[in-house]
Amino acid sequence: MPVFLFDDLIFGPVKSRRLGVSLGINLLPTHSKLCSFNCVYCECGWTKNRSSLKIKLPNRDDFKLLLVEKLKALKGTPLEPDSITFAGNGEPTLHPHFAEIINDTIELRNAFAPKAKISVLSNGSMLNKQSVFEALHKVDNNILKLDGGTEEVIRNINMPLKAFRLSEYIDQLKRFDGNLIIQSLFLRGTNNNKIIDNTTDFEIGAWLEKLQLIRPKSVMVYAIERDTPAANLVKISEEELEAIAQKVTAMGIDASVFA
Ligand code: SF4
Repeated sequence: MPVFLFDDLIFGPVKSRRLGVSLGINLLPTHSKLCSFNCVYCECGWTKNRSSLKIKLPNRDDFKLLLVEKLKALKGTPLEPDSITFAGNGEPTLHPHFAEIINDTIELRNAFAPKAKISVLSNGSMLNKQSVFEALHKVDNNILKLDGGTEEVIRNINMPLKAFRLSEYIDQLKRFDGNLIIQSLFLRGTNNNKIIDNTTDFEIGAWLEKLQLIRPKSVMVYAIERDTPAANLVKISEEELEAIAQKVTAMGIDASVFA
């Protein structure tokens, strides 16, 4: 399968389905993926064992200089970003200076791109680190993953590399007191001879129960967009995603579909 990896620290801007004109930030290695999950649908391919990687993460000062340069160049042009988006080749909160980098980004956004929102797409695996939690609380779009309502389905879809307890994760998400956006990708298929399906009535019911506990600002419901590392996955139709989103809005929580 073709693997989609970012080869720069700052990339774009690109037109994002979810965030408008988005200037991407990749705090992870270029040309290789670093993540605490191994999602069956990951556009960056399977997660490799860290010991087999030569990991060099970007330096905070280099990042700051590059971001100033980029924001100055985009200011007043049609590509002035709607969003400065931390995503890239894996999990951005794994960067040891993630919190300081967010502070730098807020300062530079205020100076050079005041209309841009700061967005972070995270799998939430570092929420037990207080500085990461506080940094995510500060950004405009704190977008966290919840791909199912039961531990088994999440384990099969996201394959966390370390111990994962859904109840603990939900408790962490509740600490944001509603200051978060949930992103949930729906799919069906098989991997490692296991059936994966987060669209059954039972699973959707369990997922809605978790959303009721978390009460996020909104929920992004989406489907596979590019090639996936697991071969036998099915893209869910827009109609089905709409039906799922309607169940969320019926609970008084905003939901958007990205098919
Ligand atoms: S959390 Fe994101 S980067 Fe990590 S494996 Fe999953 S989709 Fe890929």
